Amino acid sequence: MYNAKAYSAASATSPLASTKINRRDPTEHDVQIEILFCGICHSDLHAVRNEWSNIMPTVYPIVPGHEIVGRVTKVGSAVTKFKSGDLAAVGCLVDSDGTCPHCKDGLEQLCPNQILTFNSPDKHLGGVTYGGYSESVVVTERFVLRVPSNLNLAGAAPLLCAGITTYSPMRRWGVTRGKKVGVVGLGGLGHMGVKFAHAFGAHVVVFTTSLNKKEDALRVGADEVVVSRNTDEMQKHAGSFDFILDAVSANHDINAYLNLLGRDGNLTLVGAPEKPFAVSAFSLLFGRRSVSGSIIGGIPETQEMLDFCGAHNITADVEVIPIQKVNEAYERLLKSDVKYRFSIDMASLKSAAGSKS
Ligand code: NAP
Ligand code: ZN
Repeated sequence: MYNAKAYSAASATSPLASTKINRRDPTEHDVQIEILFCGICHSDLHAVRNEWSNIMPTVYPIVPGHEIVGRVTKVGSAVTKFKSGDLAAVGCLVDSDGTCPHCKDGLEQLCPNQILTFNSPDKHLGGVTYGGYSESVVVTERFVLRVPSNLNLAGAAPLLCAGITTYSPMRRWGVTRGKKVGVVGLGGLGHMGVKFAHAFGAHVVVFTTSLNKKEDALRVGADEVVVSRNTDEMQKHAGSFDFILDAVSANHDINAYLNLLGRDGNLTLVGAPEKPFAVSAFSLLFGRRSVSGSIIGGIPETQEMLDFCGAHNITADVEVIPIQKVNEAYERLLKSDVKYRFSIDMASLKSAAGSKS
């Protein structure tokens, strides 16, 4: 066991602050990674503030962060895919049972015994797992991913959650050339969804509440932008979409989007607001429409997504911040004031003052 610098929150109302945490010494199957960048996902904020208390209550202190890229510093004797000095990445999962039907299909995100990168039981050290707002992490090789060497690392970090969470449902629902695809909410997830839908050749329409994001939406790959508060603009698209990805972090009326789907159209929710949605039966009955959900992606598909990004030079648009600005970043995230993902430069942690060790 060793000490690592990290940022943690002590309660749902406490700011994140510098601390030290325990990490395990790498076992034979483990990879130890020096974290270079960690993205800030809205899920970090939901968890820090215990907004998902009914589904997965937060255990404090919490060290969030599940969009991790870094460099391998040590590997266990049985590790074959990584060596010291390699680039490596870790997303939302750090373990699973490996034996259930989902794991056998490479869908570890659906494993009932999955271990999330933070706030899951830590079978090695007891307590809960600690995430990527830290200088290093130790992860079993099966959950460590390769990062294409051509990608900017600050922009690659968000691929580990925002990237796979939008890539996976688009692959599953057949987003290709000739399809009309909507993306609701131009945030961290949404802007990656636009990039993927565009790369897959679809006609992409962004729905935003932020007038000032129109130009950016077009720049990242949208063909059209609709300001969702404008009902006339919305109505022009009634019954016309094959697929809509809803990546909104707050409660909103999803019937307004279901009504834009065409025959057998699907709306997939990836956003995870605190409260349940009200779905009108008629929004689904007419047009034989469906609404479904999707959560991150399995390890093989996450690697496929990273390789796709390498081949197409796709990364997130990031604002790089030192970790000392993380609390300010959370407040800005709540105001949709980030273009389009914060990526923490973890070198800033090395100089972090005020450690409680
Ligand atoms: P984000 O960067 O904060 O983006 C959310 C976007 O939602 C905002 O940029 C904004 O877009 C829109 N929005 C915010 N408040 C709104 C409101 N009151 N009404 C309508 N639109 C609003 O968040 P994120 O990191 O992309 O995460 C989005 C959601 O996905 C979160 O709930 C997160 O927990 C969840 N998530 C799920 C998974 C999964 O596996 N399913 C993985 C990661 C994250 P505009 O300014 O364009 O309107
Ligand atoms: Zn996330």
